Amino acid sequence: MAAIFLVGARAAGKTTVGLELARLLDCPFTDTDQHLRQSLGRSVAEVVAAEGWPGFRARESAALREVTGAPRSGCLVVATGGGMVLDPENRRFMRERGTVFYLAAPVEALARRLARDPLAAQRPSLTGLDMVEEVRQVLADRRPLYEETAHHILNATAEPAEICAAALRLLGMAPARA
Ligand code: ADP
Ligand code: MG
Repeated sequence: MAAIFLVGARAAGKTTVGLELARLLDCPFTDTDQHLRQSLGRSVAEVVAAEGWPGFRARESAALREVTGAPRSGCLVVATGGGMVLDPENRRFMRERGTVFYLAAPVEALARRLARDPLAAQRPSLTGLDMVEEVRQVLADRRPLYEETAHHILNATAEPAEICAAALRLLGMAPARA
């Protein structure tokens, strides 16, 4: 089985759903944000402060290829950073190398989750706007890219178990475990 890529905005649930989907399929799970933090020994904020967003984006693109590994290397679930789709080469890479799901959620739901998330405050702002406005603006820019990259769109406001069940149905796969 090829790789499964999850794309979507910050707080869409890529990590949460990715972990659960990997558990159900008995596949390894990787997260490009986490891979970057571990391989660089620095937070996203620190990389952005030191190298700017272009430096971070280049490292993020490299991380995508590193975590995905060789073609046909087996089952894998990859949660990606919210900006992964900005690079057309990344969009093409994900579509070619597996099945891409867009975890779609309305601005209000994303902003609510970010407001609850203490780690969100440690992420550098992309726009300098307040949270809801920032989420709205970033999603307006990126939604077409998420939609263009995805083979399938999932309702990210459902329960994680329900989202995974929908993904499995779309993949035509049965869970390897309950
Ligand atoms: P991402 O990896 O896309 O940034 P996370 O998986 O870290 O998103 O989830 C962000 C926050 O939203 C977390 O607090 C998580 O518990 C919550 N969350 C994720 N998916 C759901 C869901 N389907 N329903 C309710 N809350 C969710
Ligand atoms: Mg995540």
